[in-house]
Amino acid sequence: MDYLPIFMNIAGRRALVTGGGLQAARKVELLLRSQGEVVIVASSLDDDLALLAAQEGVQHLEEPLTAEALAGCSLAIGASDDLAVNEHLHGLATAAGIPVNIVDRPELCSFIMPAVIDRSPLVVAISTGGNSPALARLLKARFETLLPSAYGRLARFAGRYRQRVKQGLSDTTLRRRFWENIVNGPVAERLLAGQDDAAGLLMEETVARAETAGGKLPLGEVYLVGAGPGDPDLLTFRALRLMQQSDVVLYDRLIGEAVLNLVRRDAERIYVGKMPKDHTLPQPEIAALLVKLARQGKRVLRLKGGDPFIFGRGGEEIETLATEGIPFQVVPGITSASGCAAYAGIPLTHRDHAQACVFVTGHGKDGSLDLNWDALIQPRQTVVVYMGLSSLAEITQGFVDHGAAPATPAAVVDSGTRSGQRVAVGTLESLADEAARAKISGPALIIIGSVVSLHDRLSWFTGAEALAE
Ligand code: SAH
Repeated sequence: MDYLPIFMNIAGRRALVTGGGLQAARKVELLLRSQGEVVIVASSLDDDLALLAAQEGVQHLEEPLTAEALAGCSLAIGASDDLAVNEHLHGLATAAGIPVNIVDRPELCSFIMPAVIDRSPLVVAISTGGNSPALARLLKARFETLLPSAYGRLARFAGRYRQRVKQGLSDTTLRRRFWENIVNGPVAERLLAGQDDAAGLLMEETVARAETAGGKLPLGEVYLVGAGPGDPDLLTFRALRLMQQSDVVLYDRLIGEAVLNLVRRDAERIYVGKMPKDHTLPQPEIAALLVKLARQGKRVLRLKGGDPFIFGRGGEEIETLATEGIPFQVVPGITSASGCAAYAGIPLTHRDHAQACVFVTGHGKDGSLDLNWDALIQPRQTVVVYMGLSSLAEITQGFVDHGAAPATPAAVVDSGTRSGQRVAVGTLESLADEAARAKISGPALIIIGSVVSLHDRLSWFTGAEALAE
């Protein structure tokens, strides 16, 4: 992040604003809404600002800006039309170590002002780091329609019980779950429907019940979630929802930063990374860890690349959960074959090329290549090989040795759907060389069959070019 997002308490503190026009008025208004005391430095004020200046807590200085006027201020905003005045303010504030913002001059700002959706005490702030105020405004408009004004009331209501619930439920996990049920359950529904009394009664009941249940931890749950091939836009709604309500996440090397960033910020992260041939945590230990965490009452997210049931060993993990009586959910994801095919412009089936598509792993149980060649080498069929990069030459040669035409089109899609996606295209004869030349490093999928010949024409439409670095 380029800036640290914070909310600052300026109630009863002084803030200085230069300028007498509309921009200054907007800033003064915001400062007053946050209960700040405002000093306006401007030779004259236009009508809007003059009205604000008449309010309590606002002081207007007509004389030029001085260090004395700034002394004791918590922050300063330069909104004058006169650039020299703003620059002077910037110099004084910087020398005095006072945070300063100069309107439309990001290079002179030690802090920037976000676009704000005000449902006080709930406030949403949006920033593009000064790159695109128009985009921030667009998002603000979307959030305005998305957030009912009653959410502010819900926040205030929750605030009234915060202390009491904190005392009654000392365990932080329990407490978080309690509050998630409140803001996402019948209490909130009543409040949002304007039935404040009913909401209050139900809340009293719920708090009392939680207090008597005390520190007892209910059994947790495991979410086995397919996170797709990498582009976070390919997550399902359900995946995202569960990612945002988990207490702990177990992930491996197939899960990129972009997806991981969407997991709840304060969820514990456990890397169970499996490098090929270097399983940092063997499968049975991962399953045992899932069981242990769920027994601690946690909502455990097991994040899997692609789809958990396609070469994901998801079946093995839930077998252990089922045996141990741990509740679980499985959320399908877009498997890398679908993701890579779409983003590389290679339809897996096509009426003129292939009526069948086979997914196969190039990595046998003991690490050797163990393929049913006759089943793979069929007319009008596409073959997608997962985990085949390290045996690419062996695989393409195997196809040819078992009767496939050497000129059969074939491709390797590297880091499919991610920002570094690359596609190497060739034939069974040339693909291994093409991939070596392109320094394909994986994760990568091999696609074999005449559908690959469509790549040249179709990749144009898929955004693959825009993705490539
Ligand atoms: N469950 C996953 C597959 C796990 S096996 C799924 O449904 O996609 C791991 C293999 O998946 C890798 O060796 C690679 O062949 C493939 N793979 C996963 N993500 C990929 C990506 N973004 N681009 C290309 N191949 C990928």
